[in-house]
Amino acid sequence: MTSQTFPKCSFGEKCAEFAVSFSSFCWEHSNPKEFLASLSAELKNRHVEKPLVLNLKKVVCENLDFSKINFSGSILSQAHFSDCHFVGTHLSNSNMIGARFDGCDLVGSDLRNAHLTRAIFNHCLLSHSDLRGAYLVEAHFNETDFMASLLSGTVLWNADFRGVKNLRKKNFENPDAKGLAALSEKHGLVAFESYRTIKHYFYDQGFYEDASWAAYRGLTMERKHFFETRDPRYFPSLLMDILSGYTEKPHRVILSSLTVVLLFGVLYFLLNVPQASANLNSYSRISFLDSIYFSFITFTTVGFGDLVPRPGALFQLLTCAEAFSGPFMAGLYIFTLTRRYAAH
Ligand SMILES: [Zn+2]
Repeated sequence: MTSQTFPKCSFGEKCAEFAVSFSSFCWEHSNPKEFLASLSAELKNRHVEKPLVLNLKKVVCENLDFSKINFSGSILSQAHFSDCHFVGTHLSNSNMIGARFDGCDLVGSDLRNAHLTRAIFNHCLLSHSDLRGAYLVEAHFNETDFMASLLSGTVLWNADFRGVKNLRKKNFENPDAKGLAALSEKHGLVAFESYRTIKHYFYDQGFYEDASWAAYRGLTMERKHFFETRDPRYFPSLLMDILSGYTEKPHRVILSSLTVVLLFGVLYFLLNVPQASANLNSYSRISFLDSIYFSFITFTTVGFGDLVPRPGALFQLLTCAEAFSGPFMAGLYIFTLTRRYAAH
């Protein structure tokens, strides 16, 4: 946010607003025609390299060319721009809360860390723009083009993306972080809601791979929120992630199933649980491989009967626990696979 302070509006005690740039009054107390004429003249004479912090709060203008000017840290909140050009304009860290852009060209603009809460973009071009770290809570993007724009680290809670063009997971990849795709993950609950917003958009568009990424990242963020608030739902959430990647990663079900079989196999071997049913009366040490085999047939609930558990409550409990987990994992696998691929 800008550290620059602007002179007060000259209207008098009753007005608490700051004067807009190139005027001694705020927008409401200035003559729009005169102001726009001086703004337009200033923009034409502007040396593009020199940074310029402007106050354009609530300004309503059309057909102005702000291209390539460095406006970083400016105030454009509640301003209304129609058919204006912001090609390659630097607007990073600007306060653009509630600003409205109709038919504006913002190609290649720098909007990093801009505050765009409740901003409205109508029929705009945001292609090749840099929106990394921008705050887009409840922002509206209607018929806006995001071709090759950068959106990693953004906050998108309740943003409205209906009708946008060229918005994919790729837009959220950060070239500075090995191309890892992510929204802002500083606050667990906000990140969860942001991922949910973009997930719904991807699902509606039929981009299921991208939606799956958003769904997984979102639930990971919800778990982070559970952890921060000491919510006991953290544990089932963690378990679902390990077992199936929140039903988004079928290979995790296979891996965790094999881990269960291996762990029970080791436990059976150490406790010498399986016994050959042929000679039950003479307890003998069973091989490690046989223990794994016994674990496998217990997990899959095949139960050939060639090996049986040694009598004893603990051993019965162990085999029952493993036999119970088998069908559960099989069900989870089928569910995960169906959810992941049936929709495609
Ligand atoms: Zn005023």
